[in-house]
Amino acid sequence: MNRCPNCGGSTLFKKGTLFQVNKACPACGLKIERDDGFFIGSMSLNYGVTLVFILTPIMILAYKGVIGTTAATILAGAGALGFPMLFYRSSRSWWLMQYYLFFPLHLPANARAPLAESEDDNT
Ligand SMILES: [Zn+2]
Repeated sequence: MNRCPNCGGSTLFKKGTLFQVNKACPACGLKIERDDGFFIGSMSLNYGVTLVFILTPIMILAYKGVIGTTAATILAGAGALGFPMLFYRSSRSWWLMQYYLFFPLHLPANARAPLAESEDDNT
């Protein structure tokens, strides 16, 4: 969990910190933070997962009368703040993973010689 996609080391986050991502992998040098704002996508991912798996079920339970609106409000408030914090590290990791899922050749471990001189390796 939360490993470097290139070398597999547990190096995604700075040692001893919960929320600080390394700019590059200390083991293999892979640039983890690719561009400024690269991880904005992980925030969207985190938001979407919170909405679908926390807030929507609470809303449905309240709508069906299983829990009262006061309980639903408290649960939704706690869930909307707490879940994104718990999911933060995984959302970063997932975001990085999906990038290399779609662009596997951008990973140094998968590098090969370009097919043509004009081929853009986009690194
Ligand atoms: Zn690495």
